[in-house]
Amino acid sequence: MLTPESYACGQWVAPGENATEITGPVTGEPIARAGGSALDMQAMLDFARTKGGPALRAMTFHQRAKMLKALATYLDGRKDELYALNPMTGATKRDGWVDIDGGIGTTFVIASKGRREMPDGHVYLDGDVEQLSRNGTLLGQHIAVPLQGVAVHINAFNFPVWGMMEKLAPTLLAGVPAIVKPATQTCYLTEACFRMIIDSGLLPEGAVQLIVGRTGDLLDRLTAQDVVSFTGSADTAAMLRANPNLVENSTRFVAEQDSLNAAILGADATPDSPEFALFVKEAVTEMTTKAGQKCTAMRRLIVPATQLEAVIEAMSAKLAALTIGDPSDKANRMGALASMGQKADVLEKLAILKKEARVVHGDPDSLPADLASCAFLPPILLACDDPDNAVSVHSVEAFGPVSTLLPYRDTAHAAEIANRGGGSLVASLFTNDPAIAREVTLASAAWHGRLYVMGRASADEATGHGSPLPHMIHGGPGRAGGGEELGGVRGVLHYMQRTAIQGSPDVLTAITGTWIKGAAELTGPSHPFQRTFREIQIGETIHTDPRIISLEDIEHFAHFTGDTFYAHMDEEAAAANPFFPGRVAHGYLLLSFAAGLFVQPDPGPVLANTGLNSLSFQKPVSPGDSVKVRLTAKRKTQRTDEYGEVAWNATLTNQDGDQVAEYELLTMVAYER
Ligand code: NDP
Repeated sequence: MLTPESYACGQWVAPGENATEITGPVTGEPIARAGGSALDMQAMLDFARTKGGPALRAMTFHQRAKMLKALATYLDGRKDELYALNPMTGATKRDGWVDIDGGIGTTFVIASKGRREMPDGHVYLDGDVEQLSRNGTLLGQHIAVPLQGVAVHINAFNFPVWGMMEKLAPTLLAGVPAIVKPATQTCYLTEACFRMIIDSGLLPEGAVQLIVGRTGDLLDRLTAQDVVSFTGSADTAAMLRANPNLVENSTRFVAEQDSLNAAILGADATPDSPEFALFVKEAVTEMTTKAGQKCTAMRRLIVPATQLEAVIEAMSAKLAALTIGDPSDKANRMGALASMGQKADVLEKLAILKKEARVVHGDPDSLPADLASCAFLPPILLACDDPDNAVSVHSVEAFGPVSTLLPYRDTAHAAEIANRGGGSLVASLFTNDPAIAREVTLASAAWHGRLYVMGRASADEATGHGSPLPHMIHGGPGRAGGGEELGGVRGVLHYMQRTAIQGSPDVLTAITGTWIKGAAELTGPSHPFQRTFREIQIGETIHTDPRIISLEDIEHFAHFTGDTFYAHMDEEAAAANPFFPGRVAHGYLLLSFAAGLFVQPDPGPVLANTGLNSLSFQKPVSPGDSVKVRLTAKRKTQRTDEYGEVAWNATLTNQDGDQVAEYELLTMVAYER
């Protein structure tokens, strides 16, 4: 008998007298006792707020990203222990891969996003500087900083590991401590993974705590700096989000709940087309992975009316060949639902759906007695011949291996049916016709958190309709909960406050750690290209001597590069162009001369020029004009122990002091000499 424990205020807490007995879905026997212990919710919140929060906020985004990468590596090395528990939840090895490897992989991706897309500092910049005043003495910048409270994660039973990690990774990267509450039915697997996180010793004290069992008065104690991130049923979400304390404090509540996701077979698909085969394969996978207990599973299969019978035939053949049984036996492709309760719920929902749809494949009474007495169900495919007048097929989610086919007349009708779900996490479209993809997107994107367009061009690298990717938003409008998770850095921002900062360039530079144009310029003891990454200071600036650009320079550059565009070579044609007074210098000539002006040529700490961002040419340069350069160290990002990236702001001005070009130059610079 497993006895998963809570982890509160740095201590493990065993199940209490009133613990819940968890029955195994595969055997029908008791497998665990969980919860029932008296946890002090206020003490847990205080512990997170006074220990975990400050410790996490003291770290930079990059330090937290490195911590997450180390954590993912640690879990990856111990995942066999998680796979050993996985079949007890009713899941096959393949289901477990989505959950366990999926959770670890998500953590790796979020860690990598943190290193690549967030600064090695404490303030995240959201967008560019806003010019709020004529002379640039008052500027605006949106920033994001970590919330100073706690993230409460209330998770669903279906993905005990991924469900925890997909929320934990962005939360910790944001710098916010978390209290995780897994669903009781599969909490022993979550607890095993959570225990590894604690054993790793990689997280600061108070960064994570675990509640096995009920949350008591936790939500009544949350404040404006806390976040609740919920996954589960719409009813529970509605009840929890209406908590008066949450309402009073405007506590953020992110919900990911029931979703009647759609898959559309494009009007261009025929039974012999690759898209038809892809649709059938994916629909069967979606019905049977995790025994259909997936928030993203395809519940409504929208097919051209002319193809309905062909799809029924093709799907039925595949479903009939599927083996169901003990998920620890590799021969079985589909395991059990998570509990007898879940099975009863699916059968209840199936009875409702059958009032509007006919069963075209699958019979719950066909299972052998040993499976029928436990939480097993065969896949059941329905067809609803009148989707326009149906209600339940668009609103009742049977959270198991159940999907309904819906015939459509034309693409507009297909999109209309997809939208009848009232808001979903994902809709997919199987087509080889980009015009159909555009029509469906314009008609449907507003109703779905993600649109997955699949066809022969992408098939070899398909990630799957049902896989939320850490790079892409997971969540959806309306019935799906109205929340958003993941989506790269977007997912991190859910645990941060966006604040508009207004102030002088020096104020913004001090706050953001990034030099803002107009802020004080510093003069270093030597040329900045002779200074190491560690030595270079933000704001360090050089001003070069001017260089006159002659007509010979322009002609030489034109013939040397082959760029003999008329604006550089033909006085009359150039003068006829509204942008130019006559022949002008090439923009790239100006960039080349700029480099020649600011470079210090000797070997030194600068290792390479790695790129150039946001280049703009603002004013033409005529023969006889001169240009000079100001180069300022704008931003530093350490990449390894050996080197880091320095971004420089470069402006070119002419003899009248007018700016003619601006860009951000990127260099790799050695950390030490
Ligand atoms: P629930 O909404 O009952 O539970 C979801 C989570 O909320 C669990 O951790 C549960 O804990 C917790 N919870 C329930 N009541 C409270 C409460 N009063 N205070 C704090 N936490 C609470 O969903 P189920 O897991 O039972 O699934 C029911 C249905 O939800 C499914 O049949 C399916 O339709 C839908 N669902 C949708 C998912 C999705 O991702 N879209 C995922 C899972 C389910 P505990 O387990 O201890 O009760």
